[in-house]
Amino acid sequence: MSAKILGGLKKGLIFVISAPAGTGKTTLVRMLQKEFSCLVESVSYTTRKPRPGEREGVDYYFISEAEFAQKLQEGDFVEHAKVFDHDYGTSRSFVESQLQNGKHVLLVIDTQGAIQLKDHYNAIFIFISPPSISELRSRLYTRKTDTDQSIEHRLSWAEKEMALAPRYDYHVVNEDLYTAYTVLRSILIAEEHRNR
Ligand code: 5GP
Repeated sequence: MSAKILGGLKKGLIFVISAPAGTGKTTLVRMLQKEFSCLVESVSYTTRKPRPGEREGVDYYFISEAEFAQKLQEGDFVEHAKVFDHDYGTSRSFVESQLQNGKHVLLVIDTQGAIQLKDHYNAIFIFISPPSISELRSRLYTRKTDTDQSIEHRLSWAEKEMALAPRYDYHVVNEDLYTAYTVLRSILIAEEHRNR
């Protein structure tokens, strides 16, 4: 079959995805990548230390604060932000080369970074949220990857991020994974077929 449901553009699109921790964004992004080979997720640079199991160049490029400051000064980031006391940035050269190769680029970044891109890139902005803060609280406590204090900190940040959801083009509520995935993939397909 030569016709493609996704991946038929000469120059790809940027899809910015923001979602509080515990919303299921990693699972949803993996599902998209498994279905569509024309999607690439940008690997960010961060000054945070790797968590157990995280791999250099796969999850993040882990760099020092001095290296981050240097890259920032050289204009290597299309956006950057401080999240939970660490710096994160998206590589300009990666994003631009992938778009030129006809790939769609997924940027899974926080709301501060997304807002910076709004003024400079013609990207599509998607916010994924949990059904409620109380549901998110119970998911984070069940996941047990953070201390209680860190969970409460993440929840208060999640509330602030969720207040910005109306500024995104799309808002997907992940109450049920299959439904959220169906909505998400429909957005990508429709956006590729939009007249621009
Ligand atoms: P974590 O350290 O838990 O992997 O990520 C913390 C937060 O930083 C998440 O909301 C994640 O989406 C965000 N993040 C990861 N990479 C970037 C980036 O390059 N830029 C921005 N602005 N946020 C990022």
